[in-house]
Amino acid sequence: MGEDEKEGKGNDPGGRGKDESFKLWSGLPRSRNPEGGRLKRPLSWREALDELMAGNRRFIGSMNESVVERTPERRMEVADEQTPFAVILSCADSRVSPEIVFDQWIGDLFVVRIAGNIVNPPHYGILGSIEYGVATLGANLVMVLGHSRCGAVTAAVQAAGADMEFPGSIASIIDTIIPAVERAKKLPGDLLQNSVMENVRLSVEKIETASPILTPLIKGGTVGVVGGKYDLITGEVTLYTDVDSPA
Ligand SMILES: [Zn+2]
Repeated sequence: MGEDEKEGKGNDPGGRGKDESFKLWSGLPRSRNPEGGRLKRPLSWREALDELMAGNRRFIGSMNESVVERTPERRMEVADEQTPFAVILSCADSRVSPEIVFDQWIGDLFVVRIAGNIVNPPHYGILGSIEYGVATLGANLVMVLGHSRCGAVTAAVQAAGADMEFPGSIASIIDTIIPAVERAKKLPGDLLQNSVMENVRLSVEKIETASPILTPLIKGGTVGVVGGKYDLITGEVTLYTDVDSPA
């Protein structure tokens, strides 16, 4: 609990102090919880990345290797306070569930999901959710997670340069992905795989540059943003981002 919260400071218009969710949103950026959680959270973004990748190896290996505490005690613990150690922006695809593929459980990850794992102006709620996970809940790592055989990216590949129409609001998703497809067309190799990669990179770039909350934390090295891909067949997550260089 941060000092502001202890002392009841912060913006609380309308006297809605009893509404905990409203209080959390009202004073951004505010609580970067220094002590919460069983994993001595918050983890640095590199520690968080190590934990995610270790969890993915457990997932690939065997469910018997899981270290997740699927207990009522853990559920009640996080009911009091959440301290997720990473924010994941992933596709809504039913086969790409971050908690499962990273061997985590409730309270561990702040997951934002939308078809095509996109960030664009009509979906500023996506960026706002990521900001909330970092600035208020204290996660230091943001991962954008694309995946093989992504239906949204496949549709964008088919639509790029073609005269196609999509029903309802689906077009706004496809339109957001098409610039990534245009980038991918300039690369050698498989167009769909490269489009998945460039689409992840596009979202990473937007997160890094479009947020007055996140951008200073990223530039200062406190928060890391990485991009990766989940393989539907092998279950493996590979990173597009080079994280070997010092932060
Ligand atoms: Zn997808």
